[in-house]
Amino acid sequence: MARIGFIGLGNMGLPMAANLQAAGHEVSGFDLAAQNMDAAAEKGVGKAASVEDCASDADFVLTMLPAGKDTIAVYSSGVLQAAKMGTVFIDCSTIDVTSARRAHDMAKAAGMGSLDAPVSGGVGGAQAGSLTFMAGGSAADFDKSKPALEAMGKRIVHCGDAGAGQAAKICNNMILGISMIGVCEAFVLGEKLGLSHQALFDVASTSSGQCWSITSYCPVPGPVPASPANNDYEPGFAAQLMLKDLLLSQEAAKAVGAATSMGAEAARHYGEFAEAGQGGVDFSGIIKAIRERNS
Ligand code: NAD
Repeated sequence: MARIGFIGLGNMGLPMAANLQAAGHEVSGFDLAAQNMDAAAEKGVGKAASVEDCASDADFVLTMLPAGKDTIAVYSSGVLQAAKMGTVFIDCSTIDVTSARRAHDMAKAAGMGSLDAPVSGGVGGAQAGSLTFMAGGSAADFDKSKPALEAMGKRIVHCGDAGAGQAAKICNNMILGISMIGVCEAFVLGEKLGLSHQALFDVASTSSGQCWSITSYCPVPGPVPASPANNDYEPGFAAQLMLKDLLLSQEAAKAVGAATSMGAEAARHYGEFAEAGQGGVDFSGIIKAIRERNS
């Protein structure tokens, strides 16, 4: 079993750290928010005094932070110098590819292993230990880290070199943002044509229109009992997080000169939804805005 430092004990980080501890690893956690440290301690996670304290003597240091600037700030703070040679730094935050590659360079320059390993599966997946990890970095660092990641996830995929995990994450979520808007538009068109939600679901969920946005996350109440539509669009996956990921995909597309017009359109839709005060609503709740535009 490994000694693990965990930095960032928020909605995702706390249950992930708790699962590592429950699997028998020795976890020491740190967060800027004292109440998160207390909540993690209740799950058996040790309280570190600082990020440096988290890293000293650790085999792995995991970060689960809001954005690229936070990962770079933590990596710049002295945490790399506090760790023993060969510790693997694993950043699980969803961040821009450029910052992810910079974090790798910083870790490698300090003699550390490094992975970017963003996740899919949300808070429910973090609690259940069923996340998907998309990892970028060397095969050696991936193989070394896989057993620890398996305590938090069901599917651990090595996507390629530095930044490849973040690239896979933003490409996947660009598909998701676009497909959710398409599914919502189809349900609203069906409503206007007098088609019942259940009839459209029964056909589209088993036909060529099938996708996760219909089968697991159907944006109308009824057909999929566990979807947030049945719970007044409580997240779930908040629209502001979808917007964050879509903007990361557009930033990456601009950087490499890729034309992603549907991704840009999805980012615009979610931007307007967030500006209308709906950022905290589940991302499938965008059907309400589409219905309003049709009324
Ligand atoms: P969160 O805001 O709940 O947690 C982030 C935590 O980091 C906070 O507790 C904050 O205090 C802490 N933090 C910030 N800067 C710090 C620092 N310098 N040192 C120590 N702690 C610091 O966010 P979250 O929902 O847990 O998301 C974390 C990451 O996971 C984000 O990048 C997000 O995009 C990604 N993600 C979230 C979800 C989700 O459903 N919430 C799903 C997949 C991926």
